[in-house]
Formats: sequence, structure tokens, C-alpha cells
Amino acid sequence: MRRLTRSSLDPRWSIYIDPQTLNNSHPLNNLVFSSAIILICHQQHKLIISSINTTRTSMTTSLESEHPIKAYGYAARDTSGELSPLTFSRRATGDKDVRFKVLYCGICHSDLVFAKNEWGITNYPMIPGHEIVGVVTEVGSKVEKFKVGDKVGVGCLVGSCKSCQNCATDYEQYCPKQVFTYGVPDVDGTQTHGGYSDHMVTDEHFVLRWPENLPLDSGAPLLCAGITTYSPLKYFGLDKPGTKVGVVGLGGLGHIAVKMAKAFGAEVTVFSTSVAKKQEAIEGLKADHFINSKDPEQMQGAMGTLDGIIDTVSGDHPIAPLLNALTPHGKLVLLGIPMKPLEIAAFSLIMGRKTIAGSNIGGLKETQEMLDFAAKHGITSDIEVIPVDYVNTAMERLAKADVRYRFVIDVANSIKTE
Ligand SMILES: [Zn+2]
Ligand SMILES: [Zn+2]
Repeated sequence: MRRLTRSSLDPRWSIYIDPQTLNNSHPLNNLVFSSAIILICHQQHKLIISSINTTRTSMTTSLESEHPIKAYGYAARDTSGELSPLTFSRRATGDKDVRFKVLYCGICHSDLVFAKNEWGITNYPMIPGHEIVGVVTEVGSKVEKFKVGDKVGVGCLVGSCKSCQNCATDYEQYCPKQVFTYGVPDVDGTQTHGGYSDHMVTDEHFVLRWPENLPLDSGAPLLCAGITTYSPLKYFGLDKPGTKVGVVGLGGLGHIAVKMAKAFGAEVTVFSTSVAKKQEAIEGLKADHFINSKDPEQMQGAMGTLDGIIDTVSGDHPIAPLLNALTPHGKLVLLGIPMKPLEIAAFSLIMGRKTIAGSNIGGLKETQEMLDFAAKHGITSDIEVIPVDYVNTAMERLAKADVRYRFVIDVANSIKTE
């Protein structure tokens, strides 16, 4: 047994090679591989797994043959996050499955995080993309909601247990057995792959009906960024006309949060550290107020003014000034994921019975409701449409927040099946 040292991995992790497993051609090799990686990062134990290279080789082979239908996509293969073409396969259309040709796929910030394995749970190769819009090409014998030719969408989830309390109440996003659209083991043990690919096969429960008048390209980002902002606005009662809502950060999530809140009739204040975004916020997105969150005077001026704040920022940032900006009973809802734990003085919550909460995407029923709401109110994402061979440059630009506000890949016209 020998130890592999890989500088690209967290130095706390150790990976050992067991030569007896080198020729292991078990069809679930990639599941074994993924489980090992997950255990390593959560428990920091030394685990015996097959050679990474050998496993990868067999994964590449099995990826093409593990399912009957050939598929083609763009995959990240290591922590560089660089994406390159990958031939793989998708399952045959099951009784409840919808097969669809992908037309457009948004590039979410999570795609970048997963591609670079920043959360330590990525299995390579991995095809990202969970803002997927397409047209149905085949339906299973028991599919009720869709027919060939329908426009459809798939967001962040492609599976859940369908029997727990969360699933029974349309909160599949909190099901402990939820299956993400990419990068995790699917119910059959193979890995899920996302929308940077020529087609998808998805259980109809996780497929959304695409509203007639909602654009396919600029509507695609709603499947993650749209529902992620719509759901907390509804759940925390910030969807009433006249409600005073703050939006922190003006990126992919933030700009949609402003549009959603405005459509609900809220008075919207944008908080940003970038003064250059003031004009975009007020003139472009029709926000009512703009506050430079680096300016203590402006922050002081906002004290006690907001019923709720949607915080979309993932970089580390102070929370206390945002709590000050809330009215009594106000709610601060976190959507971003700062790596550093928050520092909160209990006093700032107690004086005013304030709430700090988090929220994650939305259930399927609510996602459909959100799409219909967006179509009715003309809400779409501001986008830059790109061909798939621009994706690595797009990822670099996304990392620098150099996009207004979402890249969307023109999949149908740029990913060609070999
Ligand atoms: Zn996303
Ligand atoms: Zn469940």
C-alpha cells in the first residue's frame, strides 16, 4: 500500500492506494470513489481506495457505457475547475422520465465552486449546470404532465425520497435524500450530471413546465437564482405591497431579488460595496434606494428602516450593521455562504425581536409558481449568452464578478453530439 500525495487536495487528507483494488472494474467504481472522498473530507480519516488514475480511467470508460444512451457535455476533471468536452451516457427513458434536448443553461456561482471542489465534495469528472431549459424529445409511459415538443426546465434538484415530511409538504429542497442535479450519486448509484450537456433525462416530478411567454435564455437563471430569492421573500412575508426590503449584493442572485421584490410591490433598498452599481440599481433595476455599505453614515441613515433583508453575499462581511437596519420583528435572510462563522451580538437580536434565517432554493411546486409569476410580471435575468467553448473564460470572469449578471450557455448551438 502506498500513499499518494496530491498538492491539490487539502493537506489534512490522506489517500492510500491498495494495489489489490487497482483492477477493480466494479460498475459502481465511481460511487466507491465518491463515497471515499466524502468520508475523507468529513471525518478526515485515512481511507483505502483504488488508484485515482485507475479509477478515473475506468470511470471514463464506464461513463460512456454505464447507460445505453450516449451523451456529450463539458466536464471539470480536477480542482483547476477547467472544463473540457466529455462523452458520457444517460439512462434510458424510464416510465416517469422526461428526456429533453438542452437549449440553454445558466452558469451559477455554485457551478464554479463545485468545478473547483471548494466545498470538498466534488467527484470528477463532473458536468455542472442547474439552470437548464430545453425541449422534450421523449416521455416515459407513465408521464402525465409533459409531451414531446413541450418546453421544460430543470433546476437544482432531480430527486428526493418523495415520502418524508418535507417531500409531503412540497419542501423537497429540505429532504435529507434530495439529489442534486449534478455531482452527486443518483438513486441508481451513478453520478448526476448537469446541463452543460446535450440532453437530460429527469423524473417528471422534478421537471418544470416552461411558461409560454417566458424567454428561454434569460429565463433559465430563474431555475436557481429566481427560486432562491422568490422563496424567502414569500416565506418570510416580504411579498406584501409596501414592505420595505433590503437586498445585499448586486450579482446573479441580488439583481433577481430586486426584480422579484419590486414585482411584489416592495420598496427596495440595495446595499453594495460597489458605488459604481448605484446607477444600475436605481435606473436599470428600478430599486428605490442605494446604500454604499462601506459608508458608515449611509448605514447609520438606514437604521431601523427595513422589514426584511435578503443577503446574497458569499464573501465574509459584517452582519451587525444589517441587523441595525431592520425594524423590530425584522428578518435577515442569508442566501450567500460566507466561509467565516458569523459574529452576532445577542443584544442586537433581542432588542427588537429580530430574526436571522437562511433559505435554500425552493420546492418544485413553488418553483413552478415562481416561473409563472416571473412570466406574468416580465421578470428575467440580465444575461450574456455565450457558446460553450467560452465557458472557461466565463468562469474566470464570474470569479471576478465581471458579468452583468448571468452567463447563459447557448447549449443547442454550441454543444454538438459527436
Ligand atoms: Zn445555482
Ligand atoms: Zn423526502
